[in-house]
Amino acid sequence: MTATAPPAVIDEDGLGVLVATLVAQGRTVVGPTVRDGAIVLAELTSSAALPYGWGVDLDAGRYRLVRREDRAVFAHSAGPQSWKSWLHPARERLWSADRTPEGDVTFTAAEPEAPAYAFLGVRPCDLRAIAIQDWVLTGGRHPDTGYGRRRRRALLIAAECTEPGATCFCVSTGGGPAADPGYDLALTEIVDDDGHRFLVRAGSEEGARLLDALPHRRADFVTEASARGAVDAARDRMGRALPPVDLRTLLGGSLAADRWDDVADRCLTCGNCTMVCPTCFCVTTEEVTDLTGDHTERWQRWDSCFDLDFSHLHEGPVRASPRARYRQWLTHKLSTWHDQFDSSGCVGCGRCVAWCPAGIDLTEEVAALHAESGTETRR
Ligand code: SF4
Ligand code: SF4
Repeated sequence: MTATAPPAVIDEDGLGVLVATLVAQGRTVVGPTVRDGAIVLAELTSSAALPYGWGVDLDAGRYRLVRREDRAVFAHSAGPQSWKSWLHPARERLWSADRTPEGDVTFTAAEPEAPAYAFLGVRPCDLRAIAIQDWVLTGGRHPDTGYGRRRRRALLIAAECTEPGATCFCVSTGGGPAADPGYDLALTEIVDDDGHRFLVRAGSEEGARLLDALPHRRADFVTEASARGAVDAARDRMGRALPPVDLRTLLGGSLAADRWDDVADRCLTCGNCTMVCPTCFCVTTEEVTDLTGDHTERWQRWDSCFDLDFSHLHEGPVRASPRARYRQWLTHKLSTWHDQFDSSGCVGCGRCVAWCPAGIDLTEEVAALHAESGTETRR
């Protein structure tokens, strides 16, 4: 991937042209907008639907929209959804089968044409989450072809973080508020005495062509310095942090910890944390047959390791207790994920913290496990 365009600056009008251009190209533009008391991801037909002047107030089990004094668009951290809702949808038909009048059965693979998505406002943590899902869902011997089709056509427009939320901890998962490679365009929003504008960097040829089509000016030193300063400052303002220890070893060595009983007393095993997590990928399948018995469909839908059925073998579930199910989730995320996929399964987006109805905070649980382990903290 070669980016040829030098960094540029666009203003609010340029952002409007960006969305209009993507729509005119026939792309399905998905980005943040305000709905139902939250900043959600939804299809956008113009930039007017973006959350101008909205921020969020977050804590464990808490999410509130707050009005800002400026017209910033991307000054909010991750909302309840992630891009997996589009790339790895909650429900997807895999195939259908029909019985012919002669009694034969024909199978038809559901291969709908993949939409040409343009994801606008992808956070650096979510960019990393998409890279993880790429590896999980298409990196092995049995790729998820539906995911692959959608992913290949998706254009990623990142928005670097300048205002991390109180539940964010991406830095302690090895990431940060700056966008890693993998984007087509990266925006850094700046609102200061020189106005409301966006530093734009291209990360691919397609991004460079898109940038070329926008009203823009060459990036000036002041704007570049402001953008870098805002992102660097965000790095030091993470709301939370994981203990700076080898989490893989900590979790792997904590299977018998008492803390699992403590968290099990609070956990409702509702699975919200897995639904909102941008890297959780587990699914189940089910068949749906019509009343005639001549037509049947196989559907894939999200599943959760918090669901009793998820580990049901003969005579019952393998992980029957809340203790076992919460431990499975956290240990997989932070420890055994490394064995399977050579990375952590957590990008520190903080969604599971904000959207847990019991206010269970992964960072607090890991700190408690660390304290129980008696391991020296390396600072
Ligand atoms: S940790 Fe929270 S969100 Fe996850 S299953 Fe338990 S109660 Fe639900
Ligand atoms: S485990 Fe929680 S913080 Fe980590 S990626 Fe998933 S939702 Fe985000």
